[in-house]
Amino acid sequence: MIAQEQKPIEEILGYLEGKQKVVVMGCGGCATFYHTGDKKAVRDMGERLRKEGKEVTEIVLPLGISACEIDMSSKFLEKKRKAVENADALLMMSCGDGAQVIADYIEKRIGATVAVVPANDALGLVGGGPKKFKETCQMCGQCELGKTVGICPLTACGKGLMNGPCGGVREDGKCEVDPEKDCAWVKIYERMEKLGELDKFTEMRDPHAWSRAKRPRLFEIEEPVKPVSAILGSLPSYLTLFTGPKYEEEE
Ligand code: SF4
Ligand code: SF4
Repeated sequence: MIAQEQKPIEEILGYLEGKQKVVVMGCGGCATFYHTGDKKAVRDMGERLRKEGKEVTEIVLPLGISACEIDMSSKFLEKKRKAVENADALLMMSCGDGAQVIADYIEKRIGATVAVVPANDALGLVGGGPKKFKETCQMCGQCELGKTVGICPLTACGKGLMNGPCGGVREDGKCEVDPEKDCAWVKIYERMEKLGELDKFTEMRDPHAWSRAKRPRLFEIEEPVKPVSAILGSLPSYLTLFTGPKYEEEE
């Protein structure tokens, strides 16, 4: 999931200076989980902007409909097409991906010139929950987890080392860069030991090939997902959410 937090309101108001008609659009994906684009966040933002004298139209995407999935999110944009066409700005309450996908659609498919500005700061791809999350992957384009027993050296190590630990690792196993965090390479060592694979630890790993991450990266899939059949087909599996053991978050 893409972790995100709302920008300071002063920054948002700065982007909207001189813009009278504003569409506020939320995202039903990650932004809803982080309360930065759910119904309440959109309503609160709408209220705040009205207090500034702006004419506001709100677009709320239901849970599960992400702004970046344009085949679905565009239906909600189209419902408010008139307001979008006449808007001076669209304040996007999502990550930067959602904001750019929506901006593209407005420009190319609606044919309107509207300033799309971000309400949120995207903080990274994180895992965990329901309250605590940790950045786990930088989406580097060439996954190294197979060499490091499933711990990402680029993300978990303060220096992104492919061979560690560095000379600064602390005696208590914490990281030189951040004493609050465990050294990734101590964790990798411990896991290799448990798996009986310690011989791999001293193998020299090649430097990470960052060239595979050249931007922007483009993808194509052969068969787009069919939302209705995917949801219907998964219904029995959803029962697990209600019948499975209750998850207790670690302190
Ligand atoms: S190596 Fe790390 S950053 Fe790269 S894809 Fe794997 S988990 Fe993500
Ligand atoms: S102490 Fe460990 S995690 Fe921190 S920079 Fe050095 S090798 Fe990386």
